[in-house]
Amino acid sequence: AAKAGGRDRIAVFDPSMYTAAVQEAEGRTDLERGLAANEFVVNYQPIVDLPSGKLVGVEALARWQHPERGLVAPDAFIAQAERTGLIVALGAHILRVACFEVARWQRDIPGAENVRVSINLSARQFQEKDLVDTVRSALTDSGINPGLVVLEITESLLMQDVDATVVTLHELRDLGVRIAIDDFGTGYSSLSYLRRFPIDILKIDKAFIDGITIDSDDATLAEAVVGLGKALRLSTVAEGIEHIDQQSMLSDLGVTYGQGYLFAKPGTADEIAEMVREHYGPDYD
Ligand code: C2E
Ligand code: MG
Ligand code: MG
Ligand code: MG
Repeated sequence: AAKAGGRDRIAVFDPSMYTAAVQEAEGRTDLERGLAANEFVVNYQPIVDLPSGKLVGVEALARWQHPERGLVAPDAFIAQAERTGLIVALGAHILRVACFEVARWQRDIPGAENVRVSINLSARQFQEKDLVDTVRSALTDSGINPGLVVLEITESLLMQDVDATVVTLHELRDLGVRIAIDDFGTGYSSLSYLRRFPIDILKIDKAFIDGITIDSDDATLAEAVVGLGKALRLSTVAEGIEHIDQQSMLSDLGVTYGQGYLFAKPGTADEIAEMVREHYGPDYD
């Protein structure tokens, strides 16, 4: 039997570690199965022009249509997909589906030829040397105008290997796409350091938006983040807008775009295509 404590303590069986390892392995197998069975689908959430509320684009958001668990949100599978490397295949799939879908809206919906699509890229995808080729193929094969595609990356990704990241971002931008920093304000960026990266858009995290109309410190912080965006001549997107007074306050601060349940929750391709159709319909000015 294992002796309790001391220098010659030998392996003590810890059932919780065993359970965690089994769950990780099972999760991985299930992800692989789901990917092979084409269970991952894309939902879309509108992004609007802030003063007017006019729909200008959508963000593609992954969902897992699981045979037993139902519709699974990304918080429950993206991290594991990153740990196992499966995010590379999953991310490429999401990228292609979103480019093809939005290219179809641009072609088929009158007035919607300039609707944009934002797609999330994980740090793990960024480490793949064929990322640029993967993006180029998705653009070429779908026929989407690259200028209407935004790739969202996180602040923490920028910290990882600055020189390599700068090179990759330039290569992606040379394809014609735009780059957004997602969840901005939750990472560690400083003004001087942000200047090094070729980026176009700051997405201000919901955490900064939540309290702006009720807490003056929150409002001051949001204003500072917006000021940072302006100083760097970037567009800004406020995430997680749920109330109309947040919209008007952010609009007054000069935030360019907004996204949140106030305007629309993420929906299926059909639901959001319908919204785009109504939005750009004949009565729209
Ligand atoms: P994100 O990229 O910051 O996406 C915005 C998230 O905020 C979405 O959650 C969206 O549904 C949610 N949201 C938008 N407006 C509101 C609001 O007014 N109130 C509240 N409470 N939430 C709002 P979702 O779809 O669950 O995605 C969570 C995260 O998962 C995303 O955060 C993104 O980091 C990641 N993710 C989603 N799809 C992909 C993907 O295809 N690839 C990668 N790498 N990550 C993805
Ligand atoms: Mg995002
Ligand atoms: Mg975000
Ligand atoms: Mg966020």
